[in-house]
Amino acid sequence: MGIIRLMDEPLSNKIAAGEVVERPTSVVKELVENAIDADSTAVEVLLIEAGLTSIQIIDNGAGMDADDALLSFSRHATSKIANEHDLFRIRTLGFRGEALASIASVSKVTLHTSDGSSGTFVQMEGGRLTEHRAGSLRKGTDIKIDQLFFNTPARLKYMKTLQTELGHTIDLLNRFALSYPGVAFKLSHDGRTILQTSGSGEIKRVLADIYGVAIAKKMIPFEGQSHDYKVSGYASLPEITRANKNYISLFVNGRWVKHYAIANTVHRAYHTFLPLERQPIVVLNIEGDPYLTDVNVHPSKQQIRLSKEKELMELIHETIRRTISTVVRAPIIDKPKPVKQAPTKQLDLWKSSFTVQEPKQQMPDRAVEDWHELPVEKAVEPVQPDPLPLDEGLPQAEPPEDDSPQFPELEVVGQIHGTYIVAQSNDGFYLVDQHAAQERIKYEYFREKVGDIDSNERQSLLLPLTFHYSRDEALRLKDNLDVLSDSGVFLEEFGETSFIVREYPTWFPKGFEQEVIEDLIEQVLTERKVDVKKLREDAAIMMSCKRSIKANHFLQKHDMERLLKDLKNAEQPFTCPHGRPVIIHFKTYDVEKMFKRVMN
Ligand code: ZN
Ligand code: ZN
Repeated sequence: MGIIRLMDEPLSNKIAAGEVVERPTSVVKELVENAIDADSTAVEVLLIEAGLTSIQIIDNGAGMDADDALLSFSRHATSKIANEHDLFRIRTLGFRGEALASIASVSKVTLHTSDGSSGTFVQMEGGRLTEHRAGSLRKGTDIKIDQLFFNTPARLKYMKTLQTELGHTIDLLNRFALSYPGVAFKLSHDGRTILQTSGSGEIKRVLADIYGVAIAKKMIPFEGQSHDYKVSGYASLPEITRANKNYISLFVNGRWVKHYAIANTVHRAYHTFLPLERQPIVVLNIEGDPYLTDVNVHPSKQQIRLSKEKELMELIHETIRRTISTVVRAPIIDKPKPVKQAPTKQLDLWKSSFTVQEPKQQMPDRAVEDWHELPVEKAVEPVQPDPLPLDEGLPQAEPPEDDSPQFPELEVVGQIHGTYIVAQSNDGFYLVDQHAAQERIKYEYFREKVGDIDSNERQSLLLPLTFHYSRDEALRLKDNLDVLSDSGVFLEEFGETSFIVREYPTWFPKGFEQEVIEDLIEQVLTERKVDVKKLREDAAIMMSCKRSIKANHFLQKHDMERLLKDLKNAEQPFTCPHGRPVIIHFKTYDVEKMFKRVMN
């Protein structure tokens, strides 16, 4: 018998049972994993009608001999797990032997496979063998799944639109490409190429293939190591943001996983660098002993249980935050585009040249943002195999000197709209948002202040504070009074829907007791628990915002100078605590280009 063994029953019982074949994407997933496990360096996926009519996967891997080709269709056949011990040290991806058997039972399968010395052809229909003979000697496997769910019409009813099904598969292939940059992937749909990667081994190039060169240039490599884990990958500059966490790709020992807490940790690493509610693009590879990562939680193998989770979270947070902190800088205005329009179009050019990068974040490129909800025609860009140098203009972890995110030496020129300070330096001019600037300075001050006081100390109020809530909120609050008292706030019932507070922890900022307690109660009402760290952080942000000069406020020159001096001394001067930019740079060269003082 060849390399595929039959698993014995006790072992198979240990594997969480479940439906493997849910939709075309699950078939693609199983078959691509098989191709990767066979050491393929090129994997081609061809879909007709999002895979419902046909899914074909062609690889150049090890292939199978005649015995294995047949055996691969039997339940619990697997070449990957020999015994129970191996089950807990899973390195390969597709360890559940029943996958191909399940797929074959609900479709028509045609398989050509060869290990180089013998070729085999197998045809199955609804799980029954219809043909088996010698086949071509092309090394590798070419498997085609026709008419998926032809004998289980109920399944077909669960399928969403073709676009949705295709969207899932594109998403899946993107993650495969990111976790296996050394494999050349090609995905085509109804004859049209949707994704093509070079297999060069560079994640940055895969990022360009998926998100475009412009985005790939703004992805920064990171790497970190703790006692048990190693993390590495790419993180976007804060000026690139997305509306959801779908752009955070997590891989544990090469396997794409979904893990809420890790995605949250990644997002937290960007705290105050990103606008609220925005998410970064991140590729995070986690490596650790397979003993620490239990992938056997769910049959889809996408969920994972981790040991030493706290150590891992700290490592991820620290590594990404350190990397991002070194490259955060003032957004630079877009370089002017070459003019080919008639003079009447000049106004448009002027407008587009002055687009700063920040507003783009609020209006992200929809084609990239929501491709999986959009009709496929709009969603997928034709692939251009471009030889663009990706390193050009990309800030490295240790940026070159002229690109370093050091705060410039600024000379105040004046103020416009009572809102922005205009300043100059030898490399151009700058606009500083006066509110955001002061907010950053005050935030760093308050953060320190609310951070180090012992939370157990309390102080009495001369007059108790009163809080009113609706009937249902009041009921929920009464159920959770102990949660509140744990955080140092003792709410006393005062009538049916009112409460009073007579004392508060000393770290509460003076003059903001009411707001901080309301924030606290809000946390209890929505989450039924209190995160004191978050509460303190929110309080620091709120105070800095409330205590900072607003827009439409005239400033004396010496006030502005003082503000810029304090800003220069700030630990992180480029964004306000809400993640908005504080300062925008207009480079001399770019301005000269706009005025045609320089051409090219
Ligand atoms: Zn504010
Ligand atoms: Zn702000």
